[in-house]
Amino acid sequence: MPVTADPNAPVVEIRDLHKSYGQLEVLKGVDIVARKGDVVSLIGSSGSGKSTLLRCANLLEDSQKGEILFEGEPVKWKGQGAARRPADRAQVTRIRTNLSMVFQQFNLWAHMTILQNVMEAPVTVLKRDRPEVEDAARRYLEKVGIGDKCNAYPAQLSGGQQQRAAIARGLCMEPRALLFDEPTSALDPELEQEVVKVIRALADEGRTMLIVTHDMRMAHDVSSHVVFLHQGLIAEEGAPGTVLKNPQTDRLRQFLSASA
Ligand code: ADP
Ligand code: MG
Repeated sequence: MPVTADPNAPVVEIRDLHKSYGQLEVLKGVDIVARKGDVVSLIGSSGSGKSTLLRCANLLEDSQKGEILFEGEPVKWKGQGAARRPADRAQVTRIRTNLSMVFQQFNLWAHMTILQNVMEAPVTVLKRDRPEVEDAARRYLEKVGIGDKCNAYPAQLSGGQQQRAAIARGLCMEPRALLFDEPTSALDPELEQEVVKVIRALADEGRTMLIVTHDMRMAHDVSSHVVFLHQGLIAEEGAPGTVLKNPQTDRLRQFLSASA
């Protein structure tokens, strides 16, 4: 196992990924590359496989064919097709802890304070020193604008504040990339903007991110690359100004006019 990966290797690279749920073929050969500092937005209709792709990328879901590379290191598999599974648990943990996921529904632990939520995984999974993690957690909560909410419980926060806490929790893992699955979809428009602002600030500081979103304005403003998934394949991709402002296919034109 290489200790230092190729420094020029993409943070995440997916090659020809295929994923089915039983008979349902959801991903039919998808390629994604996110280099350091890239912000790749995934757009597409509901059911097009966006969440599945993110979940496959950090190995929360198995896939049946194709490669996933983390910093140039290919995921090791055992078995084939429907029986294919990651072969190396330590590798899975390493990849998963380095690709922090932020979910639509925040997924904070209701019985823990915001500070405890942010500290939990670095302390229990990464076995990091508690006082050090606490300092970092307070810093990240400050950074996302809720430094005053450390001792509050999730239910005492607005949706926008909860999502920012979830982002701080992701950051506290010191991951190589952040994966967002519709981070603003559960929020009222005015709360949505405070989360978009945080994501934009993360993009500006050069964080590598994969963002599934229905928010075309955010996709336009924060992405370096936009990928349009349609029926399990990439139908169009490129710079946000091109893909979102000058679509080449009818299916993307239709999708964009429906999401406007
Ligand atoms: P999106 O995030 O683009 O809306 P998803 O990746 O959630 O799409 O889903 C893609 C397709 O896979 C949908 O048809 C969905 O019903 C199906 N699907 C997602 N998760 C599962 C699952 N755990 N079991 C079976 N089918 C699933
Ligand atoms: Mg989804």
